[in-house]
Amino acid sequence: MKVLKFGGSSVAKPENIVKIKNIISKYNDPIILVVSAFGGVTDLLLQAGSLASAQDQKYKEILHTLEERHLATVKELIPVTTQSKVLSKVKSEFNVLETLLEGAYFIGEITPKLSDKIVSYGELLSSYIISEYLINEKLDAVFKDSRELIITHKLNGKNVVNFTKTNANCEEFFNSSKKQVSVCPGFIAISEEGISTTLGRGGSDYTAAIYAAAVDADILEIWTDVSGMYTANPKMVKQAKAIPHISYEEAMELSHFGAKVLYPPTIQPVLSKGISIVIKNTFSPEEKGTLITKSKNEKGKTVRGISHIGNIALLSLEGPGMVGIPGISKRFFEVLSQADISVVLITQASSEHSICVGISANDVEKAISIVNEAFEYEIERGRIKTVIPESDLAIVALVGDNMKSHQGLSGKMFSTLGKNNVNIRVIAQGASERNISCIIDEKDVKKALNALHEEFFEENIKQLNLFVMGVGNVGAKFLEQIREQRKFLKENLKLNIRVIGMSNSRTMLFDEKGIDLNDWATKLANGEKADKVKFLALVNSLNYRNSIFVDNTASEEVSKTYSEYLGNSISVVTCNKIACSSEFENYSHLKSLARTYNAPFLFETNVGAGLPIIDTLKHLIASGDKILKIQAVLSGSLNFVFNNFNDQTTFHDVVKQAQEEGYTEPDPKIDLSGVDVMRKILILARESGNQLEISDIKNNPFLPEESLNTDNNEDFFASLIKHEPHFQSLFSSAKKSDSKLKYVAQFDDGKASVGLQEIPKGHDFYNLEGSDNIVLFYTERYPNQPMIIKGAGAGAAVTASGIFADIIRIGNF
Ligand code: ADP
Ligand code: ASP
Ligand code: MG
Repeated sequence: MKVLKFGGSSVAKPENIVKIKNIISKYNDPIILVVSAFGGVTDLLLQAGSLASAQDQKYKEILHTLEERHLATVKELIPVTTQSKVLSKVKSEFNVLETLLEGAYFIGEITPKLSDKIVSYGELLSSYIISEYLINEKLDAVFKDSRELIITHKLNGKNVVNFTKTNANCEEFFNSSKKQVSVCPGFIAISEEGISTTLGRGGSDYTAAIYAAAVDADILEIWTDVSGMYTANPKMVKQAKAIPHISYEEAMELSHFGAKVLYPPTIQPVLSKGISIVIKNTFSPEEKGTLITKSKNEKGKTVRGISHIGNIALLSLEGPGMVGIPGISKRFFEVLSQADISVVLITQASSEHSICVGISANDVEKAISIVNEAFEYEIERGRIKTVIPESDLAIVALVGDNMKSHQGLSGKMFSTLGKNNVNIRVIAQGASERNISCIIDEKDVKKALNALHEEFFEENIKQLNLFVMGVGNVGAKFLEQIREQRKFLKENLKLNIRVIGMSNSRTMLFDEKGIDLNDWATKLANGEKADKVKFLALVNSLNYRNSIFVDNTASEEVSKTYSEYLGNSISVVTCNKIACSSEFENYSHLKSLARTYNAPFLFETNVGAGLPIIDTLKHLIASGDKILKIQAVLSGSLNFVFNNFNDQTTFHDVVKQAQEEGYTEPDPKIDLSGVDVMRKILILARESGNQLEISDIKNNPFLPEESLNTDNNEDFFASLIKHEPHFQSLFSSAKKSDSKLKYVAQFDDGKASVGLQEIPKGHDFYNLEGSDNIVLFYTERYPNQPMIIKGAGAGAAVTASGIFADIIRIGNF
């Protein structure tokens, strides 16, 4: 004999019930078919009951909708010729239900017994309708009310199954039944006094397990809306996978810690008989699902699944009077248990100074008042503090049989959560070591589950979630490079890069699953109005792990938002130099936020575009070297200008060309006045460990005073035309001494300067081509022959690739 249970979503619609028929038609052996109420019905019945008891007539609307839904299901499944008997039975059951709800309405109260009676109609109606449908479909089926088989009695105020009586009833009925399919309602039972009882929310799984154990079934099949027990709730973690094989204990632990796919008490009855459980998907019956058996997971993975329970509150009993006094915890747990409050997690510090328990937030008010009352004597004398709860918490648990024989799992768990700025409130590890759990803020659950899942199950594929501001020249190239490189990164570096949000100055676009980079431009153009504050709020509210804010703008306003990102553990990658060249205090504050919140702040492209200048500097210093002197040509724009400027051209035309080809900042004066190079040498000096301000840098300008004083591009260009002779004289002077004009930045002995220089033949700077940059690092290890980094130092493609490199650095972080 086999026992098959179909849950609420499997019976939610007539077409789903047809699927069930197709599934069971393939079986030849006798079947006990346990069904839940149609999806959502139990909740609605409970809601109707509480509305009625609050004397709110709205319960009638719910009743009416429920009746219509059940009648419509009958009409859809059963042919008109045989419908009437079923319809009238359903109607008469609804009449009884109406009377029961009316009772609650008139008395203004609902007792647990009445509530049980009311909700029992969900399963009663579904099982009856399904049995009639199967009979009509010529299956050899019969309806059997579980209330004639499963008997409960009271134990410590709770309804528990009387297995002696239940097993005897089941053996007698099922062993003598001649029908192939017995359709039974899940969830409901009857007390020894003959009153309807229920087995707890999600209890249809338990019904099926009780039957399976009673008849010594070959297998217990739980059919639901997912393809097995997953490594994490698939509704929270997209990457979760069905676990092919798992032990009873692991399954029990996972379900106990919130894997709703199996009601926790379900395992007990079948475990003692060694009956296997298989979890299958009604909507994809071909998938293997999960097999749950006795066999231990000897060779398998250490961590088998991650689960969570939401809506948790934390109660802490603490005070100096607890140390060394026996019996305090006993009293604490006793009062909670007497009030029927179940404790989900316990921790006690070894100082015995406090005991912390996690309970359902629904019980919190009751818990505080009874605990404070029970310890009134100690509280009055200051030995124990009044209990103050904390709410909006959740438990996250790692589960696996083999965890005990592996070191470092909790370290990995907590560092993963820490890296993602998930604050851990309480930690507990079961003595069985099958479980490590912790309590975190409810708002962090999705991030925590996904980060842990990535760490323990995803072959180290790390997802990076990007929020890109600025999609102009550099930004667009950057997106193009990601699009082209995504597959390679996933396969080779195990990095999965997704762009979740993007914005230009006009519009912004978000897609929680990742924006399709093939047509982002049109989508962005049709996006909502750009708003930096809203952008930040959205990034924060998504609360994704490994979030990175990418700034491709040159905007000061954007640079001012970095602290908000870093303070929320969101990394920042930027080619915008403003933040790092602002006041030293701001620069170091951002760096310290990055350290505190484990969120890298990277700006490699601030100096030399894609050239690995800052990264190299960092490595030199980290490995103990000391920077003595830096000499550099750091302006790709100025290089382009002076490499193209001669007595055959005009300075104005060359600058114009540089601007048009994207070699200068949008405001070319920033480059020509030397401000841009000042910022760069300032950043290098700071990164070498010096506390410098921009005002400490000596600037020897080559622009005439008038050009420097313009305040818009038009006037600036006009002034260049006017002062052409000045520029020509700079050129001819250099030419005379067989030198070339280079704009040089220098940092030596704690002092920095920038200015135009005539570089003689043979100097490292002399042959610098096009927009190339060059940096000479003189260090303690490279005192005479400097370390040289040279290459293209401007242009959208190389800058984009430098940003990309920073993203990859974060991926490997
Ligand atoms: P049914 O109505 O069939 O009893 P449930 O809603 O009670 O179904 O249980 C199935 C649901 O359990 C899934 O849709 C899923 O959202 C949830 N769930 C939570 N954790 C897990 C997990 N680890 N594996 C599979 N499902 C899970
Ligand atoms: N219908 C009940 C519930 O929703 C029992 C079950 O579906 O397992 O809790
Ligand atoms: Mg269920």
